[in-house]
Amino acid sequence: MQVVIDDGSGFCPGVRRAIETLERELLSRPHIYCVGDIVHNEREIERLQAKGLKIIDSEQLASIHDAAVLFRAHGEPPSSYEYVQSNNLQLTDATCPVVLKLQERIRNAWIEMQKRGGQIVLFGKKGHAEVIGLMGQTDNKCILIEDESQITLLDPQKPTEVFSQTTKDPKQYAKLVERIRRHVKASVTAHNTICTQMAGRASQLQKFAREHEMILFVGGAKSSNSKVLFEICRQINQNSHFVTAENEVNPEWFEPEPASVGIFGATSTPMWLMQRIRDEIVTICKTNK
Ligand code: SF4
Repeated sequence: MQVVIDDGSGFCPGVRRAIETLERELLSRPHIYCVGDIVHNEREIERLQAKGLKIIDSEQLASIHDAAVLFRAHGEPPSSYEYVQSNNLQLTDATCPVVLKLQERIRNAWIEMQKRGGQIVLFGKKGHAEVIGLMGQTDNKCILIEDESQITLLDPQKPTEVFSQTTKDPKQYAKLVERIRRHVKASVTAHNTICTQMAGRASQLQKFAREHEMILFVGGAKSSNSKVLFEICRQINQNSHFVTAENEVNPEWFEPEPASVGIFGATSTPMWLMQRIRDEIVTICKTNK
């Protein structure tokens, strides 16, 4: 049996950069605060907490003073930057450059739409960290759409600019934009803001899922990117399993033993975790014999 890890999967550049930045900072200080999980992967969080990472929520950010804080790849709303100033925090900003650029585009579009009496639409998941940061650029006045059924929230007479959270499914976004164009009678400008890393991952995963008899998709329970990618994977290969750690690999999946098993990680999955899962599969198959 062949067990193959897709080396192009796992951390995206934004998450890798944020974690490397954090580890570098922790070489010179005992701990650093991060607002929310730096990565949506419980195992990687545990590893980083052991090195000095302390996770706080946005309410705690408002109450800490004179401390070191890191902003993760997902980005933060303007209010978090205000706390940095008012509470004398030493900021390490590890916001992904792609997200920073998107924040700027939404902010500029919002200024423009206010002059033209228009509306800004964001396709994203309510409460997701990146979405909170993006909505903050419009003073939380943009219209958040989670699915097509919410299109009625849009005023059909207003000029409209549409953006997407960077990790949404490109096909769903294209479908949503098509529906918005039918609903809104005024001008509609749709911006292509899905991260190319994310869009490329979907086709890479589809190809990989076809090449192996079984897929073990490794993701975090709280990661929306993991859920989107796993769904894409299962549509191609029904023999796909979602695992968050090696102890979730079920020995019964390997009876009978498949000819090949592919291991693929979400953009928040560390390589070391995929390697542990590969080792677990090898051990299970030896024990089954
Ligand atoms: S998915 Fe893309 S936009 Fe999001 S953190 Fe990763 S590289 Fe940045």
